[in-house]
Amino acid sequence: MAVLHNRVSQAELKQRLYEEKEKRSTISFYQYFPISDPKQFRDDLYKALNALKVFGRIYVAQEGINAQISVPETNFEALQQYLYSIEPLNGVRLNIAVDDDGKSFWVLKIKVREKIVADGINDPSFSMEKKGKYVNAEQMNRLLTDNNTVVIDMRNHYEYEVGHFVKAIEIPSDTFREQLPMAVEMMQPHKDKNIIMYCTGGIRCEKASAYMLHNGFNNVFHLEGGIINYASQAKQAGLESQFIGKNFVFDDRLGERVTEDIIAKCHQCGKPADTHTNCKNDGCHLLFIQCAECAKTYDGCCTLACQSVYNLPPEAQKEIRKGIEEGICIPCLVWRDARVRHRSSS
Ligand SMILES: [Zn+2]
Ligand SMILES: [Zn+2]
Repeated sequence: MAVLHNRVSQAELKQRLYEEKEKRSTISFYQYFPISDPKQFRDDLYKALNALKVFGRIYVAQEGINAQISVPETNFEALQQYLYSIEPLNGVRLNIAVDDDGKSFWVLKIKVREKIVADGINDPSFSMEKKGKYVNAEQMNRLLTDNNTVVIDMRNHYEYEVGHFVKAIEIPSDTFREQLPMAVEMMQPHKDKNIIMYCTGGIRCEKASAYMLHNGFNNVFHLEGGIINYASQAKQAGLESQFIGKNFVFDDRLGERVTEDIIAKCHQCGKPADTHTNCKNDGCHLLFIQCAECAKTYDGCCTLACQSVYNLPPEAQKEIRKGIEEGICIPCLVWRDARVRHRSSS
């Protein structure tokens, strides 16, 4: 049996990546399709991708695959060929990240999970085989002019807050699993309308569209490739973007500007702002919106309390963190309910 995991230290792997001469492309893709033996699928995939020097994070489940990977540019075609040789992945959309140095991953991790997107659905009769209809940017814009259309944002509050489609309805929960039944409930009065669902890259709204159909809705659409694809399609085709503001993404930039509109407010002073940041206090790291002025005033922290901790010597900060239960910032407890900690999921 071939070695299916790395035996070299993380530090060394990172070092090797940085010494690599060849450029890498960062690619993401997902596909819902039945995988009867995810473990076997995982092992085969690992061997093939490892041979192509692919790094990244991939989830495999009985419902499909979700991948964020990087590949040396010269191996891109071989990778594409290999993926397309797997029947259900033939022609799968490979999203290539722009503005990316390809250095985000330095190992290949493929994990078997129960679901590629946790959904909390316990109904065994639910299947991803019946999904809503895809819409592209042009079709999206056209449907949006129809009064009989309802648009639903399937992302979290902090994502909606800085950018969303005009007239999009927010499903007020911070977890996708809670949003699914809420969306069904909230859309009951609109059963005969066109319901368009969207999310960042398409993986969440695709599942949501299947769930709506499963719950008796008929005219369900979902935005192909999500906001990322919409923004690039609209730009290329010269369409007016009906998505305003920023598209929140989980990378160092914490968001890609789609239009110049600033639709959110600084959580500290209330002035127009849409820059997310993580509180600089290591015991907190709260994700919140902060304007440039407040960033100066608070040293990038979310409260005066966090700022005072942040300005202590490192040793003293460590002492304070020791007393804090994992994941909870004592100075910020009051903020907890309303705002969300940085999570590295898509
Ligand atoms: Zn401010
Ligand atoms: Zn804080």
